Amino acid sequence: MIRKIAPCSGNIIIVAHLRILPVYAYLCCNQNLSRMKTNLRKSLWAALTLALTLSACGGSNAKKADNETAQPDTTLVMTDSITTVSLRTGDTKLTWLKDNAGEKLMPHTLFPDATDGLIDSLALANGIPSTISVFLAERERKLILFDTGNGAPQGHMAEEMKRIGVSPADIKLLYLTHFHSDHIGGMMRGDTVLFPNAEVYASKAEYEAWMQMPKEQNALVVKTMEAYKDRLHLFEFGDTLPGGVVALDAAGHTPGHTAYRAGQFLIVGDLMHGVALQREHPDICASFDMDKGASATARKRIMQYAEDNDLRMAGMHFPAPGFLMK
Ligand SMILES: [Zn+2]
Repeated sequence: MIRKIAPCSGNIIIVAHLRILPVYAYLCCNQNLSRMKTNLRKSLWAALTLALTLSACGGSNAKKADNETAQPDTTLVMTDSITTVSLRTGDTKLTWLKDNAGEKLMPHTLFPDATDGLIDSLALANGIPSTISVFLAERERKLILFDTGNGAPQGHMAEEMKRIGVSPADIKLLYLTHFHSDHIGGMMRGDTVLFPNAEVYASKAEYEAWMQMPKEQNALVVKTMEAYKDRLHLFEFGDTLPGGVVALDAAGHTPGHTAYRAGQFLIVGDLMHGVALQREHPDICASFDMDKGASATARKRIMQYAEDNDLRMAGMHFPAPGFLMK
């Protein structure tokens, strides 16, 4: 469960309970990168209490989190000023970078299979909390970017990368979950590539499907893939890619939609557009899903895979902070 509190003007307290060992967390906010490594404390059952403090919006004095505010299971208190969150499990650090500005609610009309009764029972009539997000992994001494958001001016990925001290030129590996514009739009700045040093990876199935679409639908894809053609790599599902990242079949949302396993993280792209609705009701599809039957099947299969392998899921439209906190 993720709870949001009102935007802060000073210090805020983050309390999270995380299951994966070992875990360090870092958080940063709009003005200052305020990174705090926490010491892992006592273990209760299989859960950890991870108490973090951070200085938000330029504040400088961090306060110790009050463990008495901790709730069973995971609780992460977010404010709109927090636009990046990093978690580390084992050999992988994964950072959530929020691409959209402000708050994003998916309209419930995006999920035509959800009845009004279900929407009301989940208190989602005003919309389902969401984001447009990208993720940056540090693994095997490599910086790996997963998707690129919408691109400027509406997309803020590049600004968020800058805040954490990463330049687009630092990105050597760019892995794409699929080719919708809110995922590849950030690859270009006008007619220029934003990532001059990146090797780009996408599934062969995704590439081939988009190349066969009519021009009205694939103009952005064709332009972007052409710009990166000398370093575009097409993989098969199941392949292990540089950095030890495994590409998994999550087709359904698009023909070559890919989930990526990086250590104990699973980056699932657009497996869910409305977590609060679809996590418990995976048969419900968003109207964006190109093959609804395959999308629902993939949703259930990937969630089961994450459960079976104790993986923490990260999604491009999950609500802040982009990770599923159990
Ligand atoms: Zn999307």
